Amino acid sequence: MVSIYDNLPFGSRLTKQRRIILDVLAQSQTHLSAREIFLLVKKKIANISYATIYRNLNFLVKNGLVMSLECSSKEELFEIAKDDHSHFICLRCRQVYDIDNAKSNHWRQPPFVLSGHKVVKQVFIYKGLCKKCKKLNRSKYAKKKK
Ligand SMILES: [Zn+2]
Ligand SMILES: [Zn+2]
Repeated sequence: MVSIYDNLPFGSRLTKQRRIILDVLAQSQTHLSAREIFLLVKKKIANISYATIYRNLNFLVKNGLVMSLECSSKEELFEIAKDDHSHFICLRCRQVYDIDNAKSNHWRQPPFVLSGHKVVKQVFIYKGLCKKCKKLNRSKYAKKKK
């Protein structure tokens, strides 16, 4: 079976473990923590350790195949690399949604006057209530908030 990863310049460095991590991420179509990835990969490689997963995840991030999302309210999340996008995190259910940057204007004009610093990346994380939670119990959430 030919994998889509075989054509990559470092394809040979994609060990079985790394391919399985990529498959798990590709199949989940969402953002997973290292712990969640570990549990899913463990179903396929029973004796794999969390440290091994974490090390391989970092390799994949460094080589641009996986993206990591650091958000203060949740542990670091990983997803399969795709076009530049931002994230919306629901404050209630913690679900992470992708926001297509092409459909949003906010990221387009970085403040280039940054005392000589060079901007290489902008990270936007929007927070609020997702569609589902907004519908579910708006009033309950409002009461909880101080
Ligand atoms: Zn929600
Ligand atoms: Zn994403």
